[in-house]
Amino acid sequence: MAEEKDKTKGFMKSESGRRLTQILTKDYLDLHQRAGEGAFVVWVAIIVPAELFYGFDNVVFAVPESHAALSAAKGVGMLQCEKAEHNGYSMDICSYARIDIGTAMSGGQDSPTFGLPRPHLLVSNNNNCSLLVKWFDVYHREWNVPHFILDIPFCYEMQKETDLKYIVTQFHDLIRTIETLSGQKFNIDKVQEALRNSSGAAKQYKRFIDCAVHRPSGITAFDSFVQMAPLLTSRGRPEIVDHFRKLAEETEEKIRSGEFPLPEERYRLFWDSIAPWHQLRKMSSRLADLHANIIAASYTSCLGSIEGSYEFIQEYENGNPLESLARMQNFSVCPYGMELRFKAMSWAARHYGIDGFVFASNRSCKVYSVMQMDLQKRISEELKIPSVMIDVDHADVRKYSEENAFLRMEALLENIDAGRARPII
Ligand code: SF4
Repeated sequence: MAEEKDKTKGFMKSESGRRLTQILTKDYLDLHQRAGEGAFVVWVAIIVPAELFYGFDNVVFAVPESHAALSAAKGVGMLQCEKAEHNGYSMDICSYARIDIGTAMSGGQDSPTFGLPRPHLLVSNNNNCSLLVKWFDVYHREWNVPHFILDIPFCYEMQKETDLKYIVTQFHDLIRTIETLSGQKFNIDKVQEALRNSSGAAKQYKRFIDCAVHRPSGITAFDSFVQMAPLLTSRGRPEIVDHFRKLAEETEEKIRSGEFPLPEERYRLFWDSIAPWHQLRKMSSRLADLHANIIAASYTSCLGSIEGSYEFIQEYENGNPLESLARMQNFSVCPYGMELRFKAMSWAARHYGIDGFVFASNRSCKVYSVMQMDLQKRISEELKIPSVMIDVDHADVRKYSEENAFLRMEALLENIDAGRARPII
C-alpha cells in the first residue's frame, strides 16, 4: 500500500484519469474495427490537420507518434526500438521512429494497442523535422503506400500570408488525392464541425494546464503530458470537448478545496522538451521528495497556440476552415526560430511564476534541442532565471541516466535557493 501511494506521488489522481483510459481504449478499438470493416486508413504526423478527414464518410486516421509515446509510457519502447535496430536502423534515429518501425515490422507484437492498422495513405509534414518524412518513406518503400508530404515553411518570424496560401493549396491537393484514392466525396461542412470540436477541446485543455498558475500548482506537467493523448487520437470528436471541460472543472474544484499534487511546493520548474515518457512516475515522485514541481512544459503549452506564443489562439467558430488549419501549422515548438522561442519562454516564465528551467537535451529530437544552449544563455542573462541542462531521450530509456539527471536538477534547486538568499542591493 505504501508503495502504491509512493508511485502516484506528484500526480493528481482523478476521475478524469480513469475517463482518459476509457477514451484511449475506445479510440484504438474503433480504429482497428473500422479499418477491418473497410475504412480508408491514413497515417498522419501530429501536425497534419486530421480534421480534414472528417470531410469524408469513411476515412480513419492513426497517429504513429502518439502510439510510440504510449508504447514508451507502457514500458515497451526499448523493446520496439531494438527490433528496428536489428533490422538495420541506427540507434541515432528518433526513438519514436524506431518504436514505430519496430512495431510495424513485428506486425503489432508487444504493442499496447496491437499496433496500428495498415495505411492506404501516409501524410507527413516537413516543418517539425525532416526525419519524419524519411520515417514515413520507409512504409512507402516497404509497403508501396502513397506518401503525401505537406511542405510547410519554417517560421523564423510570424507566418506570412503567402505561406498560408501556399499551405491551403496543398490542403486542396490532399483532399483531391484522398477523393481519388478512396472514391469518397469531400464535404467541408463536416470539417468545420470537427474544427469546432478540436478548438473547444484545446480551449478546455488550456484551462486545465492554466491550473499551474495557482500557488501551489494545481497540476504537474506530468499530468498534462498524460492528458494530451486524446487531443491527437480523438481529434475532431465532440466527446473530447466534454472530457477536457470535466478535467478542467475537476482540477479547479480540487484547487478550491485545497487539494494539490505537491502541497509543500518550494520550486516551480518549467520543462523544455518532449515528455520523458519512460520516467513519468519516477521523475515526478523523486522531484516531489525534493519539494520541486515541474508545473509546465513547452511541449504541452504550445498546443492550441500559434508560433511564438503559448497563449490560446482564438476559438474557432466560423470562417474558412482550411485557412484556420493552415494558420496553426507552426504551433509546435520545433519550427520556431530563436526569437519566437525566447518570446514564448519569457511569457511562460512570467505567467507561471517559474523559479528555474530544465532544458532536456533530447538525444532523439535534435530539432527540439539544437538551440537550447543559446536559449539557456538568454534566459540566464535577460530573465535572470537559473536553469540546467540534462540529457534525456523521450522514448528510449537506454539514453537516460536518472542519477546524472537528478545530480544536475538538485544543483539547480541549490542555485535557486542561493538566489533567494542573496540580499537585494
Ligand atoms: S525527431 Fe523530434 S520532431 Fe522529429 S519525429 Fe522525432 S520527436 Fe518528432
